Amino acid sequence: MTPSTSKPAKLLTSLWMRLSCEAESKGGEQACQGGGGQEGRALTGLRCGFNLHLDLTWTAGKKHTEQEGVSFSGLGSADRESASEKSLAVVNKLLLSRAAEQQRPVRDCEQRADMSVETAASGAREAGGSRGSSGRQEGPGGLWDSVKKAGFVIGSGILFLAAFGNSLTWHLQRFWGASGDFWQNLWTKLYVAYEGHDASLFFLGTMLAPTLAFWGSNALLLWVDITGTPSFITRYRIQLDKNNPVDPAKLRQALKCVLFNHVVISGAMTVVVYYLMSWRGNPCGPELPTFHWALMELAAFSILEEILFYYSHRLFHQPSLYKHYHKQHHEWTAPIGVVSIYAHPLEHVVSNLLPVVSGPVLLGSHLSTTSLWYCVALVSTTISHCGYHLPFLPSPEFHDFHHLRFNQCFGVFGILDRLHGTDSKFRQSKQYERHTLLTSFTPLNESIPDTQKKGQ
Ligand SMILES: [Zn+2]
Ligand SMILES: [Zn+2]
Repeated sequence: MTPSTSKPAKLLTSLWMRLSCEAESKGGEQACQGGGGQEGRALTGLRCGFNLHLDLTWTAGKKHTEQEGVSFSGLGSADRESASEKSLAVVNKLLLSRAAEQQRPVRDCEQRADMSVETAASGAREAGGSRGSSGRQEGPGGLWDSVKKAGFVIGSGILFLAAFGNSLTWHLQRFWGASGDFWQNLWTKLYVAYEGHDASLFFLGTMLAPTLAFWGSNALLLWVDITGTPSFITRYRIQLDKNNPVDPAKLRQALKCVLFNHVVISGAMTVVVYYLMSWRGNPCGPELPTFHWALMELAAFSILEEILFYYSHRLFHQPSLYKHYHKQHHEWTAPIGVVSIYAHPLEHVVSNLLPVVSGPVLLGSHLSTTSLWYCVALVSTTISHCGYHLPFLPSPEFHDFHHLRFNQCFGVFGILDRLHGTDSKFRQSKQYERHTLLTSFTPLNESIPDTQKKGQ
């Protein structure tokens, strides 16, 4: 199988972009010329990008490519690709000359076309009906405008997947084909070495590997928390005035609890899970799961975790349970990585461990997937508590806000919070504006600073 972007998909994409551009042309032009606020910015990049595509596809077209000696007729597929590249260069040249004629600020358009995932995501959130903060006002057209934008963004995503899905699957399979043997051979060696000692192999996978992942990532974070260096990391701190540096006595007390939870409580849970999974199937089977099945399982584990964590967490916020069990975790209003499992033992079992271990038990998963999932879950909870919004890592703003405000953002991904409206205050906050994948090295508290209070 070869990677391919099907011709119908390409045509469909072009048609979609053309229609989108026409529908948005007025707003797009205004936005290209520097119009309008954050909401305007949200789709400006897309509009400009699609206007560019529109020019490429329709304005320049075959006529101009042929003028430059490029013809598609009678060519083989390789020649067509070469012709396409040539035509792209020609059309780019044409576009630049046209823009110069119209004195249109091309650079402005290009910059806007390159706008980060942040603005696109912001557009999607706007389309979802966000209201509130000053930078997030509804544009003209209100609900209908939002629906159109949502359709535009989602439609674009679907078409992108339709167009490039084949290539993506091909590359993934190729990657797995190349490395799959390596992992299977490694697993076979372990399997043979531990033959007859499944329990040892299981504990190695579910205790040792996740322990290394958790303490490895936390060792780095603790260094920053304790020493306050290096400054290129501390400038990404979410709550700038907190833990600078962290209180040593408070940290020591937290570490004792964390070690107890990790070694004693999680250790005991691993034994229970081993017997449950052995009863359910054979977690240490000789064959590794396929790549696609492992991905599917990880997705299922994540959904189950969101459901179990959200509801158990909300339960622990009931006043009678909160004061006895969950208050301990909330002693840290500005959390650090290691306090992700700083909790009462009962909370640790019900709210931290059960949502994570249930997936592999229910699906009768292989040890390899289970071990990978435990590592992902521990590193992910560490990041969501770490207090630093670092570039190219998942945003920790959501759970950090929970520690700051107590009664908002109970879940992992925010899906159930959206459904139950327990993210309403978060969605009106600066933290929400910053809740995105940071794709540059400028800290979000600098690019999206706090609003100055009156009198300051
Ligand atoms: Zn927490
Ligand atoms: Zn809580």
